[in-house]
Amino acid sequence: MPITFHPRSLTLPKLGMQLDPHRPCPFAFVSHGHADHFARHEKILCSVPTGHILRRRYSVAKDRLLLLDWEDQITTDGHHIQLFPAGHITGSAMIRIEHDGESLLYTGDFKTRASFTAESPVFPQADILAMETTFGLPHFVFPLTEKIHTNILTFAKEGLELGETPIFYAYSLGKAQEVYAILTRAKLPVVLNKSVYEMTQAVRETGINLAEPKLLGEAIPPGTIVIAPPNFGKTPLVKNLKAKRTAMLSGWALTSGAKYRYRVDTLFPLSDHADFPGLLEAVEKVAPKHIYTLHGSTREFATELRARGHDAWSIYGNDQLELFGKEELPNFTEGR
Ligand SMILES: [Zn+2]
Repeated sequence: MPITFHPRSLTLPKLGMQLDPHRPCPFAFVSHGHADHFARHEKILCSVPTGHILRRRYSVAKDRLLLLDWEDQITTDGHHIQLFPAGHITGSAMIRIEHDGESLLYTGDFKTRASFTAESPVFPQADILAMETTFGLPHFVFPLTEKIHTNILTFAKEGLELGETPIFYAYSLGKAQEVYAILTRAKLPVVLNKSVYEMTQAVRETGINLAEPKLLGEAIPPGTIVIAPPNFGKTPLVKNLKAKRTAMLSGWALTSGAKYRYRVDTLFPLSDHADFPGLLEAVEKVAPKHIYTLHGSTREFATELRARGHDAWSIYGNDQLELFGKEELPNFTEGR
């Protein structure tokens, strides 16, 4: 009897398990600590670092967590379950489930490139691949990581030299730590707003090598860079600050009009998701027989894969309009 998987609801009925469900359920796999992948489930299967982040971020009780180390495997009802690093943020995991010789890999959010704060991704072979396709359009090709880092550092250094406060807007978990690592490795002075500070401490506690963070007080110290979530831009502290330069870190930087939509001076295409070539690279490594796409450009990417000889379909059905078109930007929600 092959594996039973309902792609539309991301459910494995025989295990009574749902994958990253938005609503609380009895048993869920939570791929990582972003808010759009978490709900208050009765029992949560996750990686060890994600478990720590869930406890720190959402005060999840220890006895609700079923933690699985990267190298380990659990078997339940004849299903062999393993987690693999997804490279998205610290602790982010893909789940591989094998039953009667058939296997499923669910990626959650993932990235193929290396980063300072996420574990290096590992893509095991699987027969069925359920993958995220946030940046599943061919024009989403991010510049070289080194180039993005150089541009970020130049922006920050130039601002400091001009007596401006460089402010980087990033999700409090994930990209905030990544840009913090980029800036502090270059020995630049950084302060973190409270939510970024707390998540940076949580990430450090999982064993990721990051400098001891400094918490932003009531005033921004002169000659210092700030990292904060996007809503920080609406605070009087920033509004009253005359000499500043602001930047957003997002893969949507490659979309026209993004700078105006996000009301920042510049955008850097530093993403914690795979770009279009990265998505194709993942498919090649997993070498699946069937593919389901979810999030973002699901239909377009599935069409692209079918043109390349794969059996690939959007989990939302093929007639449904996509959530947003090529030139329309999504709201700045965490995790996208
Ligand atoms: Zn995410």
